[in-house]
Amino acid sequence: MPTTVLVTGGAGFIGSHTCVELLENGYEVVVVDDHSNSSPVALERVAKTAGRPIAAAYRADLRDRGALDSVFAAHRIDSVIHFAAKKAVGESVGMPVAYYDVNVGGTTSLLSAMHAHGVRHLVFSSSCSVYGNADKVPLTEQDPPAPTNPYASTKWMCEQVLADTCRHLPELRVLALRYFNPVGAHPSGLLGEDPRGVPNNVMPYLAQVAVGRRERLSVFGDDYPTPDGTGIRDYIHVMDVAEGHRRALERLNDESGLRVLNLGTGVGSSVLELVSAFEQASGRPIPYEVTGRRAGDVAELVADPGAVKEAWNWAATRDLSAMCRDAWRFQELNPAGYGG
Ligand code: UDP
Repeated sequence: MPTTVLVTGGAGFIGSHTCVELLENGYEVVVVDDHSNSSPVALERVAKTAGRPIAAAYRADLRDRGALDSVFAAHRIDSVIHFAAKKAVGESVGMPVAYYDVNVGGTTSLLSAMHAHGVRHLVFSSSCSVYGNADKVPLTEQDPPAPTNPYASTKWMCEQVLADTCRHLPELRVLALRYFNPVGAHPSGLLGEDPRGVPNNVMPYLAQVAVGRRERLSVFGDDYPTPDGTGIRDYIHVMDVAEGHRRALERLNDESGLRVLNLGTGVGSSVLELVSAFEQASGRPIPYEVTGRRAGDVAELVADPGAVKEAWNWAATRDLSAMCRDAWRFQELNPAGYGG
């Protein structure tokens, strides 16, 4: 029997790319997504890209335990990958309660349904933002979390809920992956990042400027203590992130309790370096203007990817130019995103 994986948020950016990776490697995939920030079209593209259908897709909010129970009752789920969450730093500062409700409430509801249905394997989407204002980079998993915004706080809280739940339910095996900044797209151009409304994250915003949907990028601050004054992040190709999830699933059997791992490249790039890499990849100029800092932002976040390398003998391989090239291909082929 093939392994069946429930992917929450499977129509989202990282979720959809991970679904392709799973389908291409023989897994059966069941998706739950409320489409609050994703399009059902992404799931059609997943099937087209992988050349295989997903087993089932449900439109549901994870806080709806009844809906979750029906999903677990209808499929013999072996493992869960939990992506579904609200994910924008800036937005979270303005609506903290909604972030706690969706991100923490969604996770506890899912854990409770997993427990009720005897499902023990979970890969959890965490974030490098839990580290907050780091004293030094690169960051290892031993560096203390110090979230600076509600989004990051929800991810850190979920990790704590998972750690404590694992202490009391020793049969649980959980890998929490702290992603740095996933960007890029599937190289086919069929799948990519298509947020609803104005993009909160820098890469989809850049791509929409390049394609003419938006006038210019606002660079949030050039007075950070970094070489060019703009924020530095560890951008990682979404295909590497997707591959990382498949590795994580394969490794869950060897785990006990909760293990936290960084998913990054170890290479930091500033906003201005990203703008320049995107100009090269797209062959288009990217107008930008420097505005004030964004609330909740930090100067620099770069991973030490050593722990994942040691645990899985695996590392991300795609560089910034591949990330920009693939993001641009998706945007150029789908100027209006999945709605076009
Ligand atoms: N950023 C920016 N303009 C934007 C969006 C983001 O200058 O329109 C900057 C942001 O301040 C940070 C980097 O780009 O330094 C990455 O931000 P993003 O929101 O993509 O990811 P985050 O690191 O917040 O998860």
